[in-house]
Amino acid sequence: MVNVTGGCHCGNIRYEIAGEPIVHALCHCTDCRRHAGAPMVGWTMYPQDSLTVTKGTPKLYTSSEHGRRQFCADCGTGLFYINENILPGIVDIQSATYDDPDAVPPVAHIQTAERLHWMEHAHELPSFERYPPQT
Ligand SMILES: [Zn+2]
Ligand SMILES: [Zn+2]
Repeated sequence: MVNVTGGCHCGNIRYEIAGEPIVHALCHCTDCRRHAGAPMVGWTMYPQDSLTVTKGTPKLYTSSEHGRRQFCADCGTGLFYINENILPGIVDIQSATYDDPDAVPPVAHIQTAERLHWMEHAHELPSFERYPPQT
């Protein structure tokens, strides 16, 4: 039994999760990318009753016909995704909002049909612990 806590950047929304995630996937779809403003989004999937919002009320955004995204209206952090049409009873949680984002490693990339072409080789780029040396 893994118990996870997390929240948005400003701290106005806090949540707890009880139980094991069904899966943790890195999503490359266009909707995730554009909503997050990031090349991909990590999602852990749980039964909806595993999730308890312990502080605040996330704002609901209708991101597609059946897609419902919840985020903090104060700081903008994306938090939850529900699609009762495709995944009834399921909530996806943005795994980077965990207090310990290393706690549950991802197991798959999904929606790679919409992946940015350069993301396929992003792990091969030169890496710097902080920033590149100044010349
Ligand atoms: Zn916030
Ligand atoms: Zn997505």
